[in-house]
Amino acid sequence: MQLEEPSALLRAAAPLIELAVAEDIGPGDATSISTLAADTVLHGRIVAKAPGVIAGLPVAEAVFSRVDPAIQFVAHVVDGQEVVPGELVAEVTGPGRSLLAAERTALNFLQRLSGIATLTRRFVDAIAATSAAILDTRKTQPGYRILDKYAVRMGGGLNHRQALYDMILIKDNHVDGAGGILPAVTRARAAYPALPVEVEVRNLEDLRQVLAIEPPVDRAMLDNMSLDDMRQAVALTAGRVRLEASGNVTLERAEAIAATGVDYISTGSLTHSAPALDLSMKVALPQSGSLDKQASLSDLSDRVAGLKAALGDQLVILGHHYQRDEVIAFADYQGDSLQLARDAAQTDARFIVFCGVHFMAETAAILSKPGQHVVSPDPSAGCCLADAASLEGVEAAWDLLGAAVGDADAEFTPVTYVNSAADLKAFCGRHGGLVCTSSNAEKALRWALGRRPRTFFFPDQHLGRNTARRLGIPLEEMLLWDIRRPPDPAAIRMARVILWPGACNVHQRFRPEHVQAVRRQFPGIRVLVHPECRMEVVDLADDVGSTSYIIRQVEAGAPGAQWAVGTESRLVERLQNRHPEQRVVSLADVPPFCRTMAQITLWNLAQVLAALARGEIANEVTVDPETTHHARLALERMLDLG
Ligand code: SF4
Repeated sequence: MQLEEPSALLRAAAPLIELAVAEDIGPGDATSISTLAADTVLHGRIVAKAPGVIAGLPVAEAVFSRVDPAIQFVAHVVDGQEVVPGELVAEVTGPGRSLLAAERTALNFLQRLSGIATLTRRFVDAIAATSAAILDTRKTQPGYRILDKYAVRMGGGLNHRQALYDMILIKDNHVDGAGGILPAVTRARAAYPALPVEVEVRNLEDLRQVLAIEPPVDRAMLDNMSLDDMRQAVALTAGRVRLEASGNVTLERAEAIAATGVDYISTGSLTHSAPALDLSMKVALPQSGSLDKQASLSDLSDRVAGLKAALGDQLVILGHHYQRDEVIAFADYQGDSLQLARDAAQTDARFIVFCGVHFMAETAAILSKPGQHVVSPDPSAGCCLADAASLEGVEAAWDLLGAAVGDADAEFTPVTYVNSAADLKAFCGRHGGLVCTSSNAEKALRWALGRRPRTFFFPDQHLGRNTARRLGIPLEEMLLWDIRRPPDPAAIRMARVILWPGACNVHQRFRPEHVQAVRRQFPGIRVLVHPECRMEVVDLADDVGSTSYIIRQVEAGAPGAQWAVGTESRLVERLQNRHPEQRVVSLADVPPFCRTMAQITLWNLAQVLAALARGEIANEVTVDPETTHHARLALERMLDLG
């Protein structure tokens, strides 16, 4: 979230909160006043009852505060963060009558805005494999324009024009009224030369007229076109103006529309048809010491600290940089994938509790010594990037590569990013390849291409593409694998680097528009991004590197330095907290949190430690001996790179 965001949001929300409080509470909450003693203090927990994306926490907090400034509001997630059913969103403590009077109004705001963010995120995820972006429209709840558009950003969408005054959008009615596209554009430019211009086109002939205009307009809106016409429009336009698809946009069609090559997809459904996210608030008299799933953080911290002390040297806790602060506080080693892989290989502790996602715990299990046990607080915490490639899919591709070049093992060195399943690491071990991380991908790719003429890189297309370009390999010598329609043999023979079409949903969320916006907002800011970001973002950034590299850059920054960081937002927030003398903001106005990393909580950490203390090994992560043998080969080749 950019720094100005909450205050702009709250300024827009203030009159709405006044209206809402007046209409719901009016002269007083008759039920709470009559049933609760005036001095009753209550503690409320706002909990998600459905999966979704939270938006509007500052507004909910402002409602409680407006009803009674004595109410304390503690958020457990941030806007833009995904939640799962049962997850604690926020806690409120204060005078019981006020708490219950404010509850409905606060939840109404939070549920509506979270519903918009949730639907937006579904659209964003549906087109994640393409370079298109999701846009909202002006179809917002009257009076809620700023709030609704804020929620769209929290869902990962981009805002279209704010209102009629900040952009020219010439629609068919304007064209008909002005007597044609060219006269409409000419008049608009003469009257408002500073405003960007977009023109709606109904067919390819309209588009040809728009493309003939000099200087080019900023954008053309393809209104209700068929997929085939959109593809033709993209070919005809050849990048001269940006194209926005509009009309008949549904979740089911979004991916196909994005695949035509348009730059934007706009849909009013984000704000006019999003169902509210199901959230509820349960209250109780305040108490401490309970250790259920929603126990307070301080009670859970005390519990984990006690268990950790009791387990002593038998235990080592590893924590990835993207973990929650309260979890990372207990990590004996904190790092990125490479660092933690090394730490895991060196520790002699009997129990390695890995606070990270599943493939990381698997890697630790592969590198562990006999007698060591690797435990995950939540083994279901996966990684969308790792899940993008299966052994079956990679083996099928390998066979096709072999058929195209004669012998895949003679021509291709397979390289897997560490964010992959153990069986894919073993595949690389068996076929003379290796594992890499974002820290050493360049060395790994150089090593791979030094052994055989070509490389097969999976599962992250962006890391593969960005790294290959750093080695000077042109895009024409890279081939993006298409799982549904594998490339023909001639195309394979032309390629030096085959890229698997996987991507990280967190890093892929950063877009060139974010770089432009943050540079406008903070002139002179340095943009520092992770190589899992899209190539277009890396190209615009000042610097690119792994999470460890990003940390080192900020740590070496001078007071007053400004950084816009393109990586997981928990790390960005931690860097800002550790370096208040510098400005460290997320590159995007949507904090891209890794949902699966967030599955590791103090509560489930406490559960596995409690089991270990009782002599039980819960949630052990194991890898079978044969897979371990081959995966270890591939990991050792990586560790040997230094
Ligand atoms: S940040 Fe991306 S790559 Fe890392 S664990 Fe989350 S989804 Fe996977």
